Amino acid sequence: MLKYDSDMIVNRGMLMPEIVLYPSSWLYNAGVIGFLRVLKECGETVENFLKDDGSVEIEESKIEEILKQPNGDGLNPFDKFGSWHRYYIKVTFYDLYNDSNFDEAIKKTIDELLKVRNDLLKKRKKEAVVSVDENKIKGKVEKNFVYADFFTQEELNKIKSLLEDENKTEPEISKEIYEILSKKEKQYKYRKAVAILFPSGGYYQNFFNPSNFRKVNKFLETFKSENFLKIADTNINVNINVCSFCTDRKFKVEPINFMFMSFLFPANSFKNSYWNLDDNNLTNICSLCKFFVIHFHLGMIKLQGGSEIFINAPSFKLMWNLNNYVRTLYGRKEITGTKEVLGISLIELSTKINIHLGRWEKMNIEVVSKYHDKIDFFSLPSDIVDLLTNREIASLLKQIGEFKILNMVLDGEFNGILEFGEKALRDAMKRKSGKDTGTDFINEDIKLKKNKEDLFSFSQKLFKLYALIKSELKKEVIA
Ligand SMILES: [Zn+2]
Repeated sequence: MLKYDSDMIVNRGMLMPEIVLYPSSWLYNAGVIGFLRVLKECGETVENFLKDDGSVEIEESKIEEILKQPNGDGLNPFDKFGSWHRYYIKVTFYDLYNDSNFDEAIKKTIDELLKVRNDLLKKRKKEAVVSVDENKIKGKVEKNFVYADFFTQEELNKIKSLLEDENKTEPEISKEIYEILSKKEKQYKYRKAVAILFPSGGYYQNFFNPSNFRKVNKFLETFKSENFLKIADTNINVNINVCSFCTDRKFKVEPINFMFMSFLFPANSFKNSYWNLDDNNLTNICSLCKFFVIHFHLGMIKLQGGSEIFINAPSFKLMWNLNNYVRTLYGRKEITGTKEVLGISLIELSTKINIHLGRWEKMNIEVVSKYHDKIDFFSLPSDIVDLLTNREIASLLKQIGEFKILNMVLDGEFNGILEFGEKALRDAMKRKSGKDTGTDFINEDIKLKKNKEDLFSFSQKLFKLYALIKSELKKEVIA
C-alpha cells in the first residue's frame, strides 16, 4: 500500500515528497519488484529503498528523474530515451530472449536480402536493366528485423545499391549490410519488447496503442512522468477516489479498465483470488499504481516450459532477496518442484544476509506459480521455515548439497536423515576395512562426488544436521 508522507524530507535544499509502498496483493508486489529491477539497471542502489519494516521508500523525484527524457537534440527518437525507457526495454528483452537472438535476426535478414539479389540476377539475364524494388527490401527487413521506418532513406538506398552491385561478392555484400543492421540493436530490442507487452493479447493490452509501435515518439509520450504522477483533484468526494491497489488517494484514480488489465484477469474467468481482494474493492486504480503494474512481467521469473513463478512475502526486502536468488539459480531452467525452489531460496537468504524474520513473515512466504491462466500458491509449514532460516542448519544443508536430504527436511522426515547418515557410515567403515560395500546406495542415492568420496565426513554432517534440527524443534516446543 502506498502512503503519502506528509513529512517532507529535505534533500539538496528542496522539499521532496516521499512515496512509501507497502506490500499488498501478490500481483502488485510482483509489479513493484519488477520496477525495482529496472531501477537497479538505471544505476540505483535498490537496497537503500528497502526498509526493515518491509516497505519501499522512494522520493517522488526519483521516479520523475528516470522517466525524464534527455533534452532531445538527437534526430533519432531512440536518442531521446530516458533511463527508464531504455532499461524497461532492455530488461524485458533480456528476460524473454537470449543474447544471441539479435545476431540470429541479423543473419536471417541478410539471408533473405541475398535471396532478393539472386532473383534480381536471374531476371537480369532476361531483361536489360532491372533494379530492386525498395518495398521488397522493406518487407524483408520488417518481417525479420525492425520496422523499415527505423532506417534512414540513406541506409535503405545503401542496402539497395549493394544488392544491385554485380561487382561485389556475396560475402562482401553480407559484411556491409551487417554493418548497417548491427547498429540497430536498440531499435530491434524495442520492437521485440513492445510486440510482447502491448498488442492485443499481450501483457498490457493496448496500454500503448499498437498502431503507434513504429512511432517511437508516441512511446516516449505515453511513458512520461506526468502521466503517472497525476495528483488527485481534492474536490472530488473522498469516498470514491481511493485506489484499490495502494488504498491511497494522493494520485488521480480512474476505474479499472479490464481491457487493459486483461493479463490480470484471463478471458471470461475473472478471478479475485489473483488479488486476494473482494469484488467490491476492486474498482479503481491510481496513476502511480498503473505505472507499477506494467512491471508485473519483470517481477515474474520465467522458467523453462512457459511457467513463471514469484515468491510473495509480507516484506519487499524479503521479496527482493528471495526472488533474486531464485532468478539466479533457476531463471530459464526447468524446476523439479516449487517446494524445492522455496527451500533453496530460504537457505540462500539465511546464509547470505543477516535478516531477522518475525513469526508473521515466516508464516506468509509463498510461491506463486503461473502457467498460462492457471495460478497456484504454495507455502511451507512454519516449523520448516524456522529450520531453513536457522543460519547453522541452512549452511549445513548447503554444504551437504544433496537434494534428497533437502527434501527430507522439507517433508519433515527427519528420521530419514539419521538413517541415511547411518547407512553412509556403515559403508564408510566397510570401505575402510577393504570390503565391498555390497550396495548401490552410494551410486544411486548420493549425487555429489565429494560426498561419495568422503562418506565418513558426509555421515558426520548428516548426524550434525539431525541433532541441530532436533534441538531447534525442542526449542520451539518450549517456546
Ligand atoms: Zn494506487
